[in-house]
Amino acid sequence: MSAVETADRAMRILVTGAAGFIGSHLCERLTNDGHSVWGLDNFDDFYDPELKRRNISRVGLHPRMHVVEGDVRDQILLDGLFGTVPFDLVIHLAARPGVQPSVNDPGLCYDVNVTGTLRLLETMRRYRVSRLVFASSSSVYGDDAAEPLSEEHAAGTPSSPYAASKRSGELLCHSWHHRWGLSVYCLRFFTVYGPRQRPDLAINQFLTLLRQKKPVPIHGDGVTGLDYTHIDDAVEAASRAAVQLRQLPPNAPIFRILNVGHGRVIGLEELAETLSRVLGVKARLSRGGGGMRNTQAADTSRLEEELGYRPRIDFADGVSRYVEWLEEVESAEVVTAGP
Ligand code: NAD
Repeated sequence: MSAVETADRAMRILVTGAAGFIGSHLCERLTNDGHSVWGLDNFDDFYDPELKRRNISRVGLHPRMHVVEGDVRDQILLDGLFGTVPFDLVIHLAARPGVQPSVNDPGLCYDVNVTGTLRLLETMRRYRVSRLVFASSSSVYGDDAAEPLSEEHAAGTPSSPYAASKRSGELLCHSWHHRWGLSVYCLRFFTVYGPRQRPDLAINQFLTLLRQKKPVPIHGDGVTGLDYTHIDDAVEAASRAAVQLRQLPPNAPIFRILNVGHGRVIGLEELAETLSRVLGVKARLSRGGGGMRNTQAADTSRLEEELGYRPRIDFADGVSRYVEWLEEVESAEVVTAGP
């Protein structure tokens, strides 16, 4: 982007969940693109908060990046922020993610994902901020949807509190669109992976086992095949959605739901084999009981039509980039720790 283009198109963007996996990458991209970013995060304990502080540490030094520590449910904090900064756009990523954690603590999941979203929407309405990118999830499709998963599907049978909370978030966004002219892209992310990914993903668990030369369990207890989306693809989709919203005429609000997935399901066996090839170790697979159930692949035609983009990073390539990053981090840690 030229200096003139940057000045012309630069936005003031609030990113919630900015210190998380997707959020920290997105903040880097947005500041590099010339935008000013306010990153709100409460550094919750879903996984080690120290990892989140590390995620945001580099971009936190950028002159156009402002890190705000706090909770998206905190109305006083939101009023302070929106009363001070005339935001052009909000990207709402803050959430309690994960299916099983939502089964263990549905109340917390509801409170953060639904009440938090509602509070943000209402604050946006009061301060006349009219553009939102909302992080939804492929989990809203439930277990019975036909492949490939298309946004046409009713998504009316969520099978976990997390899925229900994300679908509720989408529905709330729609009502703010309908009543108050909010323009919204709901991005249904399909399992995002890559540098800084959340520790709870199967990729991390398999990598640890393979490196320890332990057998990798290939048996199902829950979903065993996933449509994996590389973080760079997820960030590209989110930043395109933000730019697209900026370009809309103010009197023609839109509400769109878009799948952000690669479009191919990787089963547990392929996952283990790809990781072992990248690591250069022989995988020992332990096959056992349990039902093998795949999620379906994303239909990305609407994403392509709407944003002119389709996730394209091949899984094997994405995994080798991830492993390279992991090895760099580990060797930096060894150097820092010293002899
Ligand atoms: P993450 O847990 O790494 O990031 C979420 C961030 O939100 C964390 O830094 C957390 O501290 C913050 N947060 C949580 N509650 C908050 C609150 N009340 N106030 C302020 N900040 C709060 O997760 P992620 O993988 O980066 O996911 C980002 C978004 O994308 C989430 O909404 C998630 O549901 C959605 N999503 C992610 C995936 C994926 O595979 N990573 C897939 C589908 C949807």
